[in-house]
Amino acid sequence: MRISDSQLISNLADLGVERRPAEKLSELTSLGIGGTTDVLRIAKHESIPEVLSLLDANHIPHKFLGGGSNLLVDDGQLPWVVLQLAPPEPDVDLEGNLAYVDAAADLGRTVTFCAKHDLGGMEGLIGVPGTVGGALRMNAGAYGMQIGTYVREVKLYRAATREIETLRGHQISFEYRHTSFAADDMMLAVILELPSKPYNEILKGIRICNEKRRSSQPLGQKSAGCIFKNPPGASAGHMIDELGLKGLSVGDARVSDRHANFFVNTGRASAKDMLALIDDVRGRVQKAYGVALKNEVVVWNA
Ligand SMILES: Cc1cc2nc3c(=O)[nH]c(=O)nc-3n(C[C@H](O)[C@H](O)[C@H](O)COP(=O)(O)OP(=O)(O)OC[C@H]3O[C@@H](n4cnc5c(N)ncnc54)[C@H](O)[C@@H]3O)c2cc1C
Repeated sequence: MRISDSQLISNLADLGVERRPAEKLSELTSLGIGGTTDVLRIAKHESIPEVLSLLDANHIPHKFLGGGSNLLVDDGQLPWVVLQLAPPEPDVDLEGNLAYVDAAADLGRTVTFCAKHDLGGMEGLIGVPGTVGGALRMNAGAYGMQIGTYVREVKLYRAATREIETLRGHQISFEYRHTSFAADDMMLAVILELPSKPYNEILKGIRICNEKRRSSQPLGQKSAGCIFKNPPGASAGHMIDELGLKGLSVGDARVSDRHANFFVNTGRASAKDMLALIDDVRGRVQKAYGVALKNEVVVWNA
């Protein structure tokens, strides 16, 4: 969607919003798939209620983008604009065992920064791309840990009240790749409480996790991580592998040869290709195991 009203463009600029017209989401997502729309970069959290009121008043729908590493975005001209937070400088502050982190901060850099200050716990998240906000939304985790464990407080914009609010950790439920945030909540910042650990020890843990990733995931290829959530007590990747579906392709969308729950874009895959592959694999697993796999990847349909 293109914003063409010059008054609206000027009002957004007054609120510190940078408009990047006609961005290709294929260049902003790790899968390398997605059509074109205006991206609005928001520099000040405080301006968000007003920015959203302006968009509502002008009947402009929006979606919220973090680092684009868990997304499958539709092709073509997209019928909504994309909002993205611009990270402040610095985006992480430490005070004792507390890390004050902006939602736009890069997750991996945050883990490393905390580690260098002898704050651990998040070693498993080192290879998870994307932002801290995106990690909170999905309760990102790996190798037995999840970010939700360390959340003490979240500052968020709630569309339901149109206000910026603060939730304490115990008010939020963090489950396997699922949280109790409303679909239109926008995470703005978080306070993490992290255990003290010597840097060398954290580094050892990080190296082990990195090695596990390198040996099992198609890291050099375009993907969105795991396509499906693991069903209770089972592994979606093992089921797909057991059915011999590694290498199955629709156009340039392909089930990775390395990790059967990673679907990769080997060239110019379209969203249509990737969605067809996802449906095909889901159907085969349903038929063979009677299990309906649920998406872990977030699909933005036009
Ligand atoms: C190679 C690879 C490995 C991966 N490994 C893992 C893994 O081990 N574990 C794991 O959990 N995930 C993994 N992922 C998936 C992905 O990196 C995570 O889900 C990540 O946390 C998504 O963050 P993001 O900022 O990129 O979110 P995006 O992809 O930009 O967005 C994902 C969803 O979160 C929403 N969102 C993003 N930011 C915010 C915010 N501030 N407020 C509200 N909503 C927001 C978006 O609207 C969207 O619905 C992997 C991905 C890749 C490509």
